[in-house]
Amino acid sequence: MSHQFKTIIEPFRIHSVEPLRMTTLEQRQEAIQAAGYNLFSLRAEDVLIDLLTDSGTGAMSRDQWAAIQHGDESYAGSPSWFRFQEAVQDLFPFKHVIPTHQGRAAEKILFTVLGGPGKVIPNNTHFDTTRANVEFTGAEARDMVIPEGKQASTLHPFKGNIDLQALEGLLSERAADVPVVFITITNNSGGGQPVSLANIRAANEICRRYSVPLFLDACRFAENAWFIHEREDGQRSREIAEIVREMASLADGMTMSAKKDPFGNIGGWLAVNDDALADRCRNLLILTEGFPTYGGLAGRDLEAIAQGLREAVHPDYLRYRIRSTAYLGNALDAAGVPVVKPIGGHAVYLDALTLLPHIPPLQYPGQALSVALYEVGGIRSVEIGTVMFGRQPDGTEKPAAMELVRLAIPRRTYTQSHIDYVVEVVQQVALESATLPGYRMVDEPPSLRHFTARFAPIR
Ligand SMILES: *Cc1c(COP(=O)(O)O)cnc(C)c1O
Repeated sequence: MSHQFKTIIEPFRIHSVEPLRMTTLEQRQEAIQAAGYNLFSLRAEDVLIDLLTDSGTGAMSRDQWAAIQHGDESYAGSPSWFRFQEAVQDLFPFKHVIPTHQGRAAEKILFTVLGGPGKVIPNNTHFDTTRANVEFTGAEARDMVIPEGKQASTLHPFKGNIDLQALEGLLSERAADVPVVFITITNNSGGGQPVSLANIRAANEICRRYSVPLFLDACRFAENAWFIHEREDGQRSREIAEIVREMASLADGMTMSAKKDPFGNIGGWLAVNDDALADRCRNLLILTEGFPTYGGLAGRDLEAIAQGLREAVHPDYLRYRIRSTAYLGNALDAAGVPVVKPIGGHAVYLDALTLLPHIPPLQYPGQALSVALYEVGGIRSVEIGTVMFGRQPDGTEKPAAMELVRLAIPRRTYTQSHIDYVVEVVQQVALESATLPGYRMVDEPPSLRHFTARFAPIR
C-alpha cells in the first residue's frame, strides 16, 4: 500500500534561479508614495513577492525553452504556426484558429465585429479588458453570475456558473440585440471560481434555442477542467484533456490569453467555427496584429505555447497547482483573515470590505489593503473592486459588487516558504488593519483607470 503524505510536492525541481531584492520598510514607503499609491506603477525590482498577476509571469519548463530553439520565423506558413494550431485544436477543436499577441487583442477584434451601440453582451463576469473592449464599441457588458458568486463566503462548488434564468430572461426579451454570450472559465474577476460542465451545457441549450453563439473566455481552462474533474458528478474517471474538449464542443468559439494556463510569457488566440465570422476577424487581424499564421507573435512564442498546452493538462501539475493555491487560502482562513471561499484556482482573494469595515467603498478599501501589504512585506497584489470597476459608462462612480484584493500565484514560480512568508505578512497587516487609511483618486485616466490612476491617503 502506498502512503498518503500531506506535504505538497512541486512536480518539478529548480534548474535556473532569479535573485529577489530585499528592501526596507522605509524604502517601500518611499517607493509606493512615488508610485502614487498605485501598485502597477512600482518598479518590479522594488517588489519581493510579486502576486500582481499570474499573467505571463509563470516559469517556463525545460521543454518550452527547448521548443523555443525550434522557432521558425518565416513570415507566412511557418512550421511553428502549424505546431501551434495543432496543439490548440487538439484541446479546442474549433475550425478557425486566429493567433493574437494577447487575449485582449482577440477581444478587440471579435467585439469590433460583433459589438456596437444597442448590443448587449452577457458574461458570468467580464474580465476588465473584456468589459473595456465591449464598452469601447458602445455595447453593454452585462455580468450575470449566479447569486452565490457575489457573496464572498458562501460555499458552492461552481460559484462561477452563469445565472441561467437571467440569461434566458435576457434572450427571451432581446435575443436580436445579443450577438454572443460569453462564459469565463474560471471566473477571474469573481474569485477564480469554476464553471460546471452542466452549466455550460445548459447555457449552450439556451443559446441554441435563441440562435445566439456561445463563446468561452478560456484563459484558465485547465484549472476549470481540474475542478470539474474533482467536483462534478461522474467526471473523476475522465482525462483532463477529454473534459477540456467537451467544454469546447459546447461552444461556438473562444478567446484566449496564452499568458495564463498555456504557460506563455505572451500570446493569445481567437477561435471560431463560423466561416464568415472568421473571415471578418482575419481581415482585422491583418490590419492590427499581423499575418494569420503568426498574428503578432514570433515563431518561438508559438512553439512555447504549443508545448505549454501539453503541460497544462497534466494531472500532477494541476493537482499541485490547485492544492498549493488552497494551501495559501486555507492558512489565511485558519488565521481568521476573510477570504473568498472556496479557494479558487489561480489566486486567493482577500475580502477587504470585511477586513476594513471603517473604510467606505468609495475610499477604496481594497486599494488600502494592497498598499499595506506592499509597505509591510513587499508583496504586490491587485485591487479588484471599486477602483477597477466603480467608474460607470455614464461617468458616475458606484461601489463594485465586492471589494477584493487578489493574490495571484504565478505558475511554477514560488516555493512553499515564499507562500509561508506571504501568510505571515497578511496576518501582520490584519493585526494593524484598524489603523489603515482610505484613499482618494487624485488623477484618473478615461478607461481602465486602475492601471495608471494616482491616489493619496485620506489621513
Ligand atoms: C488575462 C485575461 C484576459 C486578457 O488577456 P491578456 O492576455 O492579458 O490581454 C481576458 N480574460 C480573462 C479572464 C483573463 O484572465
